[in-house]
Amino acid sequence: MVELEAIVQLRGIAAAAGIAIGPAFWLETTLMQVQSRHVDDIGHELLRLTDARRRARVELEQLQSHVAATISVAEAGIFEAHLVFLDDHVLFDEVEELCRSRQCNIETALAEVFDRYSSLLQAADDELFQARANDILDLKRRLLRLLMGKVEQRIDLPVEPCIVLADDLLPSEVVQLDRSRVLGICLSEGGPTSHVAILARSLGLPAIVGLGNDLAAVKTGTILVIDGSAGLLVVNPPEQMLQSYRAQYERERNRRIRERAAAQSLATTRDGVRVAVLANLSSLAEVEEAVANGAEGVGLLRTELLFLDRDQPPSEEEQLAVYNRIAAALGDRPLVIRTLDIGGDKPVPYLRQPPEQNPALGVRGIRLAQHDPELLRAQVRAIWRIETSRTVKVMFPMVSTLEEVYWLRKLVTDAGAELRATGIATLERLEVGVMVEVPALALMVDHVSRMVDFVSIGTNDLTQYTVAVDRNNLPLHKLGDSLHPAVLRLVAQIVRTAEANGAAVSVCGEAAGDRLGMPLLLGLGVRTLSVSPALIPGVKAALHHLHTQRARAVAEHAINLATAAEIRAYAGTVWSGVLA
Ligand code: PEP
Ligand code: MG
Repeated sequence: MVELEAIVQLRGIAAAAGIAIGPAFWLETTLMQVQSRHVDDIGHELLRLTDARRRARVELEQLQSHVAATISVAEAGIFEAHLVFLDDHVLFDEVEELCRSRQCNIETALAEVFDRYSSLLQAADDELFQARANDILDLKRRLLRLLMGKVEQRIDLPVEPCIVLADDLLPSEVVQLDRSRVLGICLSEGGPTSHVAILARSLGLPAIVGLGNDLAAVKTGTILVIDGSAGLLVVNPPEQMLQSYRAQYERERNRRIRERAAAQSLATTRDGVRVAVLANLSSLAEVEEAVANGAEGVGLLRTELLFLDRDQPPSEEEQLAVYNRIAAALGDRPLVIRTLDIGGDKPVPYLRQPPEQNPALGVRGIRLAQHDPELLRAQVRAIWRIETSRTVKVMFPMVSTLEEVYWLRKLVTDAGAELRATGIATLERLEVGVMVEVPALALMVDHVSRMVDFVSIGTNDLTQYTVAVDRNNLPLHKLGDSLHPAVLRLVAQIVRTAEANGAAVSVCGEAAGDRLGMPLLLGLGVRTLSVSPALIPGVKAALHHLHTQRARAVAEHAINLATAAEIRAYAGTVWSGVLA
């Protein structure tokens, strides 16, 4: 193979923005070599497969929790596809059938069937199906490793930070990379919506995918420049070019530093309108980053992690200890705690939920609490008992009827009264809010807002339920764009109605941190946003450049456009010079 000694520019697909400069490092991902064997005891092979599937499930659920805690809950959803394939009867029936008919070891049958399915998906003329092919390969590797009794390989990177090169990376490999040693990622394969691209964006790692076979000619140690937004990889840049990229890198870094430093001040628009920017958190571990990034408080504390990966629910005392630590770390900033939002799609052994055909439409969120009120009561009691004089609010997910709102309000009031009656100290006041994420509730906000102190719009689920697109179904993800005009029209109506009826309103779905979504929400009248901690400095900086009157005019025009794509194109043109 010809090695690239000269300056070369390779073009790929822009996957994650940013400049990275550093030495290349080829990652050799370990291939599992399968030796075919004749076997007589097929029953034993099938049992081995059942055991490997069980252990793979445990590993994947642990990986999901790890990603949810260290990256984000949304990115943890990437491993949902692996769990879906793990339950795929057609796939595993074929593996078993092949094992029987050929009387071969289960590894051989598994590798053959998984490779065949992966090739079929790879050949499809659709990058999302191609990404699915990767999921199948990732799961195959995991199952083979478990069947062959191998331990999970750690990916060892050189001490000096490098740009990682690979033909392709599996999501489980990306999350294993030591972030302090990786400057960026370049892949010969992959598309812009591949899992690697999604993960690289959330990790803030510049990345280019789909660089093709030419990447193979780049040697480990060669100096590279990634221009992530342009999808450009420069190999062996001459000194002058290197200097210009270093300058660009410095400018971007300085912009981020400036934005981060400025993020400690309160956000206002160009015309002086105050917008509160809060953080969405899932664990205590994220509080510090949120505060350092200028979070004015927590607009959404997802509490699911407290309840997952265990044999029994966390006790009231255990929850109280966690909430107290989060409240203490937040100082005088407000804290909105959302009660448990789990459904039949997440296996929680102690809940004993029967499997459901459509978990997203099933016993999820507070519907679970209506089946098992003790669980919710203990959580609400723990929230009442938080030891702080600062503002704490409780918020309920997946509410769809007014009866539920009434029941929840009463549950909160009764829990507080019971505690005080037994001499247990409580917060002086606990504001009650609901998430508006079901269209039925969105259309009833006039009633709802007279019954609660605040509503928070969960655009992720509101989009899922309005457009009828499973938010975890990656091939459909373009259909589930939160900037769909129907979703924005609902948001406009919710904001108008809630305010007219005296309830505070915020947005805590991903749209609040979306580069184009945020200005549109501003234009629709939203003045409280809650976003991932990493996005706070950028959101505050963008607000500084926006004018509310102009944003309103743009939003009013946008909701009359026909499609999410038209809205994105229009908003992108209007704000191209304003937003980074
Ligand atoms: C939402 O649905 O928009 C939301 C913020 O909640 P979650 O993503 O946790 O369902
Ligand atoms: Mg939701």
